[in-house]
Amino acid sequence: MNVQTLPFAHLIDHPLVVDPSSDNCVVSTNPATGQTLGAVKIQSTADYEDLVKRAQLVQKEWRMLPAPKRGEIVRRIGNAFREEEQALGALVTMEMGKIYPEGVGEVVECIDIADFAVGLSRQLYGLTMTSERPQHRMYEQWHPLGTIGIITAFNFPVAVWAWNAMLAAVCGNSMIWKPSLVTPLCAVAMTNVAHRVMKEQDIFKPTQGDPCDLFGLIIGTDDQVGETMIADRRLPLISATGSCRMGRHVGTQVAKRLGRSLLELGGNNAIIITESADLDLVLRGVLFGAVGTAGQRCTSTRRLFCHSSVVDEVASRLVKAYEQVPIGDPMADGTLVGPLINEQSVANMRAAITSAGEQGCDILCGGVEGIDRYADDAGHYVTPTIVRVPAGSDPAIARDETFAPVLYIYEYSDLDEAIEAQNSVDQGLSSAIFTDSMRQAERFLSHNGSDCGIANVNIGTSGAEIGGAFGGEKDTGGGRESGSDSWRQYMRRQTCTLNWGDDVPLAQGIEFG
Ligand code: NAD
Repeated sequence: MNVQTLPFAHLIDHPLVVDPSSDNCVVSTNPATGQTLGAVKIQSTADYEDLVKRAQLVQKEWRMLPAPKRGEIVRRIGNAFREEEQALGALVTMEMGKIYPEGVGEVVECIDIADFAVGLSRQLYGLTMTSERPQHRMYEQWHPLGTIGIITAFNFPVAVWAWNAMLAAVCGNSMIWKPSLVTPLCAVAMTNVAHRVMKEQDIFKPTQGDPCDLFGLIIGTDDQVGETMIADRRLPLISATGSCRMGRHVGTQVAKRLGRSLLELGGNNAIIITESADLDLVLRGVLFGAVGTAGQRCTSTRRLFCHSSVVDEVASRLVKAYEQVPIGDPMADGTLVGPLINEQSVANMRAAITSAGEQGCDILCGGVEGIDRYADDAGHYVTPTIVRVPAGSDPAIARDETFAPVLYIYEYSDLDEAIEAQNSVDQGLSSAIFTDSMRQAERFLSHNGSDCGIANVNIGTSGAEIGGAFGGEKDTGGGRESGSDSWRQYMRRQTCTLNWGDDVPLAQGIEFG
């Protein structure tokens, strides 16, 4: 493959992109074909040190630029994403393997969050409080944190950075991005787009430092750069997206230095289907949730709890739908399921299905044979799989996140029990109920309903909009990114009290001297 002819070639023109035969580089391959897309030089901890110093220097003046002016620059970055929407979408698809409409959809998320951040740049509000002391005024204000660290997962190789970066930038921070080594070209491309805007803009001309250094990129290994970054006291916030295993380690290391972490970790998301559910809606919601992105979303639907009166019909309709799902080249029109990211993911899916079989489950479609079908193919293709769990059983494998399209169907007769079962796993990211009963919907949304960060009614578990705060509870890490008031995570709150009187009264009525 000639990299120069790829639609995104201009986006990966960068000094870090090197010949794949070079020493000390990470080679990026297309999971659909196994072909090499390019290679990126692995940076050292000395490179990291240099980046942090530069990011800190430029942030000193960036923080003093009025927030709406920072917003104006972010608006231009959002427009640059718009101009490159298709090329970036193609890169996401070719490096990560999600189908092209989803690749473009991911870039649209970046545009949306940039727009959101622009509006936010005029709305970084604090509260005012009434003071208990006469002639005193109390209010809170929000200051930038400084330089923040962003660690991202392979499956949303551009959007997760944008969710963090666009908000962090309008909040007055600089940042260092450490992407997954599986998708380094996406990171180079997004950084290139941001840097192009920073070079062209005439709003922020610091007396010291380079405006591009606001958006730092480090391509490094977990044990060298990763560990250095999470232990670095100069980064007051580490926003880390990835597996629960990674989050447990990163969260602990950051806590040891009393830093702040924003953790967006794995999910094990369920949909409850009640006896009154509209099964046509169910089919569409479950199909996108369980099969979309080849089951490689943190919000992918992994478990279905079906009322006993509808379980057989749901299962048979889903099996029919699964058998018709077009699997193949993610760049081709009509494909709905592309490949998994790599051989390890395929092996994990195979192991999960085998384990489910050993634990007494029925494999309704897909299965190990569905994986074997693609054994000679250069891409990491699999067949989405449905597993029916025997009544009264709860196999251990279904309680873990297998990052692949495996869906477990459970049967229930009592809604309270279904909600309890849904909540019984370690993760708490996304959840949904399909019902036409207002009472059941409200029961699901009540304080003793879903324990997840996301709870939907008659919508699947995946495909969140940027306007809401995104994230989950328990082992999902508790972080919230993107919309609502998530911006506060990127700022520090300061409570200010002003005395405009001619006495110094103490709070709580204390008399002192
Ligand atoms: P991963 O945990 O293998 O890696 C995620 C990131 O963490 C990578 O950049 C990796 O290099 C980095 N990392 C790992 N160890 C590190 C260390 N010691 N120090 C610093 N950085 C380190 O995850 P993945 O396979 O890339 O992504 C899939 C996982 O991410 C799934 O579990 C999925 O559910 C989760 N995810 C969660 C969300 C969310 O918002 N909740 C979004 C996307 C993906």
